[in-house]
Amino acid sequence: MNSKNTGFNTICTHVGEIEDKQFKGAISPIYLSTSYAFENVDTKRYPRYFNTPNQEALCKKIARLEKGDAALIFGSGMAAISTSLLAFLKKGDHIVLQRTLYGGTANLVNEEFNKYGIEYSFVDSQKVSGFEEKIQNNTKVIYIETPSNPLLTITDIKEVSSLAKKKGIITMIDNTFASPVNQNPIELGIDIVIHSATKYLGGHSDILAGAVVSSEKHIEQVFNLAKNLGGSLSDFTVWMLERSIKTLGLRIKHQNKNAKQIAKWLEKHPDVKAVYYPGLKSHPDYTIAKKQMRGFGGMLSFELKEELDASKFQQELKLIKSSMSLAGVESTILSPSLTSHALLSEEERKRQGINDGLLRFSVGIEEKEDLMNDIEQALKKVKILELEH
Ligand SMILES: *Cc1c(COP(=O)(O)O)cnc(C)c1O
Repeated sequence: MNSKNTGFNTICTHVGEIEDKQFKGAISPIYLSTSYAFENVDTKRYPRYFNTPNQEALCKKIARLEKGDAALIFGSGMAAISTSLLAFLKKGDHIVLQRTLYGGTANLVNEEFNKYGIEYSFVDSQKVSGFEEKIQNNTKVIYIETPSNPLLTITDIKEVSSLAKKKGIITMIDNTFASPVNQNPIELGIDIVIHSATKYLGGHSDILAGAVVSSEKHIEQVFNLAKNLGGSLSDFTVWMLERSIKTLGLRIKHQNKNAKQIAKWLEKHPDVKAVYYPGLKSHPDYTIAKKQMRGFGGMLSFELKEELDASKFQQELKLIKSSMSLAGVESTILSPSLTSHALLSEEERKRQGINDGLLRFSVGIEEKEDLMNDIEQALKKVKILELEH
């Protein structure tokens, strides 16, 4: 399993697994001890040191999936993000970040960084020139997220990472939306890859977790802060996440296929005004997406024609559930302006192109015909309501 050629689904199923020597069971046993006898101080095991047997096993698998040398898993995506950022930034340093970020990441920067004396600049354009303009002498990190939430805009990973390399700046990416099935940023020059494992890695809407993948040296730097901040993941959840990842390749490939076909169908639909999906030729970043992604993911957004009420439409859906989170095997939908992006001012939402009628659709593994039928029946109901008015 250590061969460079081991295929993706084989890594998902087997890499890192703990052999059950006692009973010869098929899966990794779970070790819940918080106390282990130790031979010397350097090798003592403790869950907050990120080195229980199950944590180490899962880290091997996630590192291999993201083509890094080492990984750390955390109690949440935000624990992974905050620890990674603070591990590479100190008082007087500067960071350049993409404007269209996961809300929690933007809040972390806006609400906390001043306290620590860390300077930051947001980039409005996702073109590499936009990032270059914001770089200062004290810039230590460039942070990107692609595809972004909720309009699925794409940042050119290779261009941004080579710009950073020239200037000796560390690059970090939130690779949650793409998942390692569709995109491996380390191969494109990124230093540190971060995941909210709550989303596609977990995939069943029952796990809160995060992951960081990088070189041994960078992971050590993240670990040195992580053990002090204490954001490690409980071994029960570690074990569940190992199980979930076994089907990662199968799930995402099916979600890619469903989302692409539904995006194409919505694009032609007379009741739909706009569809945002990086796998559509009409998407402004299609060319970059095609260059750096193997599949285009399970997330898409769309707007209905103005005369149709988007929230009524959402309420009329039966199979597709309204939900805050995303990336589960079940399809979910939300209105970013009322939920995930409600804390932004109306002006900021406009600037990012997030209209009130926009709907973000996390496409699950259900049969695509059933999802399309659900959308069709909800549209019919909304149109009848319009007529009655
Ligand atoms: C959900 C999410 C996060 C935060 O992860 P948590 O596990 O909720 O802490 C970060 N980035 C992206 C893109 C997300 O979707």
